[in-house]
Amino acid sequence: MSPVAPDASRPEDGDAFLAQLRSFEGKPSGPPMEARDEVNQAMIRHWIDAMGDENPVYVDEKAARANGFPGVVAPPTMLQAWVMRGYLSQKGGEWKAPRDESGETSAQEQLFDVFNAAGFTSVVATNCDQEYTRPIVLGDRLTVSSVIDSVSPEKHTGLGDGHFVTTRLEFTDQHGERVATMRFRILRFRPQVHRPAVDAPLRPRPALTQDIAFFFEGAKQGTLLIQRCGACGLLRHPPRPACASCGSFDWDTVTSSGRGTVYSFVVMHHPQIPGFDYPLPIAVVELEEGTRLVGDLIGVDPADIRIGMPVVAEMVAVDDELTIPMFRPLSPGKAA
Ligand SMILES: [Zn+2]
Repeated sequence: MSPVAPDASRPEDGDAFLAQLRSFEGKPSGPPMEARDEVNQAMIRHWIDAMGDENPVYVDEKAARANGFPGVVAPPTMLQAWVMRGYLSQKGGEWKAPRDESGETSAQEQLFDVFNAAGFTSVVATNCDQEYTRPIVLGDRLTVSSVIDSVSPEKHTGLGDGHFVTTRLEFTDQHGERVATMRFRILRFRPQVHRPAVDAPLRPRPALTQDIAFFFEGAKQGTLLIQRCGACGLLRHPPRPACASCGSFDWDTVTSSGRGTVYSFVVMHHPQIPGFDYPLPIAVVELEEGTRLVGDLIGVDPADIRIGMPVVAEMVAVDDELTIPMFRPLSPGKAA
């Protein structure tokens, strides 16, 4: 790992700060925690029902022995479930690292205080690796102890600048023997400020994937595009990878005339989301090609909107980056 260059304008980024963070490496995050219950069939059933896992070694003694296990085993990935406490069982509903018997603040809390004081106030979990030493069987009683394994130098990430903190958790059985090890990594970061607060709020961005990008690209070019199956020709919207009729992944697009009718609509008053004007009429429009789509209705008094009224699409640049189709009533003169 390369050393961090000290930055006089941000003294907390310098070597002294990193050294302070690293002084926590090797310290226990908090006292060991013992599972409240033995490894039991009921909890395993809940887990495999939720996961849809039908492996018989988790429920059937014979099947487990036939596969070389000493008896029914717990799904390995259930590891943490045995020692986890309910969220609300923590004081005030807020998670706090457990304290040792002396009541002293745990090393993990102290480390997080150091991060908070330096502005690294946000946290996101980034990695979790588990290593299983032996199968966990019915009747085992697990204990977990955790150590602050490592703290990284400051890294620049898409979320903001921050430090990765890796915690190593050792799971032991009722005889004190290790059954699994887990490394859990979080990023403590300074939340990025994307734009000055004085700017008008923007509309939410669409989640652009390779399946849907064409639609917004088309809108930018002033065209309303509909996806068409390359095999059977069926039109579809919203965009998706495969044809619901024939299953083909081939597709191209056709340009819609933009003309359609109001199939259904609502006028939104609440909740008022930043970036939109209210009252906000929103319609499901049935295009003359046959597909439907959702869009704002513009140039109309909400009281005048009727099911079946003819509308036409208009590409509206709501800001520098985003153009979306909206619909306005089609005057009888233009309908011809
Ligand atoms: Zn098709």
